Amino acid sequence: MPWDIIHKMRDPAACAPWLEDYDKTRAGFSWAQARALLTGLPQGRGLNIAHEAVDRHALGARGRHVALRCLARDRAAGELTYAALSAQTNRFANVLRHLGVAAGERVFMLSDRIAELYIAAFGTLKNRSVFCPMFAAFGPEPIRARLALGEAAVLVTTAALYRRKVAGIHAQLPGLRHVLLVTDDPADAELLKSPGVSDFRQLLAEASAQFEIPPTAPEDPALLHFTSGTTGTPKGVVHVHEAVAVHCATARFVLDLHDEDIFWCTADPGWVTGTSYGIVAPLALGVTLVVDREEFDPERWYGILQDERVSVWYTAPTAIRMLMKYGAQPVRSHELSSLRHICSVGEPLNPDAVVWGRDTFGIAFHDNWWQTETGGIMIANYPAMDIRPGSMGKPLPGIDAAIVRREKDGRITVLDAGVEGELALRQGWPSMFRGYLHDAARYRQCFADGWYLTGDLARRDGDGYYWFVGRADDVIKSAGHLIGPFEVESALLEHPAVAGAGVIGKPDPVVGETVKAFVELKHGIDGDEALRKQILGFARKRLGAAIAPKEITFARNLPRTRSGKIMRRLLKARELGLPEGDISTLEPAA
Ligand code: ATP
Ligand code: MG
Repeated sequence: MPWDIIHKMRDPAACAPWLEDYDKTRAGFSWAQARALLTGLPQGRGLNIAHEAVDRHALGARGRHVALRCLARDRAAGELTYAALSAQTNRFANVLRHLGVAAGERVFMLSDRIAELYIAAFGTLKNRSVFCPMFAAFGPEPIRARLALGEAAVLVTTAALYRRKVAGIHAQLPGLRHVLLVTDDPADAELLKSPGVSDFRQLLAEASAQFEIPPTAPEDPALLHFTSGTTGTPKGVVHVHEAVAVHCATARFVLDLHDEDIFWCTADPGWVTGTSYGIVAPLALGVTLVVDREEFDPERWYGILQDERVSVWYTAPTAIRMLMKYGAQPVRSHELSSLRHICSVGEPLNPDAVVWGRDTFGIAFHDNWWQTETGGIMIANYPAMDIRPGSMGKPLPGIDAAIVRREKDGRITVLDAGVEGELALRQGWPSMFRGYLHDAARYRQCFADGWYLTGDLARRDGDGYYWFVGRADDVIKSAGHLIGPFEVESALLEHPAVAGAGVIGKPDPVVGETVKAFVELKHGIDGDEALRKQILGFARKRLGAAIAPKEITFARNLPRTRSGKIMRRLLKARELGLPEGDISTLEPAA
């Protein structure tokens, strides 16, 4: 292991009262207890995410507490208290009801991170309809495909986005009954006269602020989320209201949220992290959520951490690596004393980045692992637990994880510590997905012998820490070795000139596959032959000849999904001259 363990203070008063001792909490935990901590709808009418995240605070002592602080470059910050959010979401639920939108029907959102997105989300849930957020940066075709696959009844978007991206495909979506446009520009008056198009803000203003959430079963569908499309065509994943039990548990155990925290999740709700942790989880715990409309910008981000006095920050490895490129100086020139806990998800977090966080912020990044399908964080480094940099941590209390092998007859063999295999979770936690949209067969294939099989390869060490190896689809088989791209990429990232790396297997008649790396260099460094040789040598020394890349190509931008994941399948397709497949989630090169 290249890095030492980062030891935590064991003084319970100084660390997380929500999870003081991993083993103790795990031993005493049950989902029944976690469910019992939820308030539930009044008069036993069931369980609804919007009640847990909004109304129960609005009706209680936290009504005047700020729920959302919405930041944008061109205007002053806008605030919504829990009481105001409750009233606005009641209004939107009434809007949907009056439009005849039924329980289970889908309301899609296409916008950047504006207050209306959050109002639409909870209003939809109050009406028992299903909320489906999309990235605002999608082009017309990915938008059309998702609206069609998800049988959207309603689309909430801005007038500007509608003109640019939806107007041209609207006629191809006969099932889309209502488009609600957010606008304050009088020039949009004509547009608002189009059939099926209405003014979101006007409808909201005219609707009543009183709404009683109808009885909602914990198993009623609540959220539809498309996966990131890293390994293929994005899948539509269905989650139910009961998922909020996991959001609450992880907001305590992993994010360590407390009443007075100011929480910032940098993910966009077009990616599941931006919904589970950028909308639901923090509000379910009644904290203040910072929402920034703008895209990544190091100066701006440090400014937000400082000025908003962010105490808990949840971000992703790509962003962390970009901040590393930018250096430690900007961190030192900001006053970040409010920052208490920092977490990362989405891709493997290389040990270098964990240690950089500790050295630069004085606190380490806590990596955690989950998927769109799991609905919430499943494996994590907890605030009270020692960190082993490069490890995803340990399974959430209430989650049974294992490293397994699928046998040919479909049975599952649980593997021992130290052995690589597929990461599996014992099925049945509350936020487990309940289906892939229109693909029951694929859903069934994810389960065997009572386990959910994640498609990720990992290894557990003797102390119960999990280590990510790679996606089953990305793993390289070379001369009898199974090579996880993450291990190779991590080693490359330790070279001082390297800012990013993506590693693939290239078919080879002799050894099966050879390891090829695509490398992004730090700003101002030119990739020449000498540097290529130096990096190859560096990797060989670190990894050994069997695992080290045989070939390196310098790339200005690695292909990434909009949620920041390296699309190795695209690197491979381009390398081999094969069709690129679904690239709807590809982030355009900067
Ligand atoms: P698709 O399923 O469409 O290919 P995707 O798997 O990238 O896309 P998500 O559900 O957004 O879609 O991502 C989940 C995946 O991201 C995990 O299965 C894992 O491969 C990767 N991942 C998430 N967090 C971590 C982490 N902490 N360490 C390593 N990998 C992670
Ligand atoms: Mg996936």
